[in-house]
Amino acid sequence: MFATRDFNTGDLIVNERPLMVVPRIPVGVLTDEGVPDEQASKTILHQAEKVMRPVFGRMREEDKKAFMELHNSHLQDGSGPILGVIRTNGYVFGDKAEMSLSNSNTSSKETHTSIFKDLSRVNHSCSPNASRKFHVSTFSMQLRAARDIKEGEEIFTTYTDILEPAAVRAKDLASYQITCTCRACLDPDKSDPIRAAVLKRPAIFVPMQKDFGEGWIDPALETLSRIEQEELQGSHLYRRTLHQVFNAYVHMNNEEKALEFGKRLWAAKLAVGEDRDERFRNVELMKKSPQWVMAKMIRGVPLLQSFI
Ligand SMILES: [Zn+2]
Repeated sequence: MFATRDFNTGDLIVNERPLMVVPRIPVGVLTDEGVPDEQASKTILHQAEKVMRPVFGRMREEDKKAFMELHNSHLQDGSGPILGVIRTNGYVFGDKAEMSLSNSNTSSKETHTSIFKDLSRVNHSCSPNASRKFHVSTFSMQLRAARDIKEGEEIFTTYTDILEPAAVRAKDLASYQITCTCRACLDPDKSDPIRAAVLKRPAIFVPMQKDFGEGWIDPALETLSRIEQEELQGSHLYRRTLHQVFNAYVHMNNEEKALEFGKRLWAAKLAVGEDRDERFRNVELMKKSPQWVMAKMIRGVPLLQSFI
């Protein structure tokens, strides 16, 4: 999928209802000794195909055609033709790729898989420029820009946890028969330490002494620059770090900087369909917030040490 126009962070790229939603199929049965039981797995795959056939049969003819035109990377492992397409193209609700993008771990469990005519064709990158989120209210998946995208750029989502090291991602992607050739996978010696540093990002501490300057925000700003360098704006840690910086500038009553980072936070949250607070981008509301008022009251007064 390629951008036919420019998109700003948070802009909607595609909003699509699935061709099919099915319960997730457990595959890869282990024996008591913990080794793969191929016969049991084949039986499950065979049964699953039988269960999926009537579901497929109820679809509209044009949807059946679109479904069968999707890629199938499970031709050799005992999956039937319908199951093969599902296993290749399905987005599991609440899988670890979606979790690595989303902030919540309670909204959904890995119970269902959804297959889409267009969204299932979006390719993978370990530095995706788009985020996806399934909305139950509209029963559709939205794909939005995770960072600014220029006309003509390919749109990428992720099929794995982008904060994991390259070797772990490669193992995960092998189940889709994908050998990723993104910049990060081609040079893991450079990329892995940056991703590890983002994952272990430090808390920032509000200083105790008067006239503390701005140096205490630097660890969060460094994390942000690592995220930008590695193009990890799709990660939930991008939003958490922006929130840290926003809070820090609110704490310093720095209206201009708080607004700059608040606006970025607002757009980043829009990209993944998270709740957004208007005080992130509205100065008047920001100044009425308890955090701002409190910071103004205690300005210059020594504080109990706290972290944000
Ligand atoms: Zn990659």
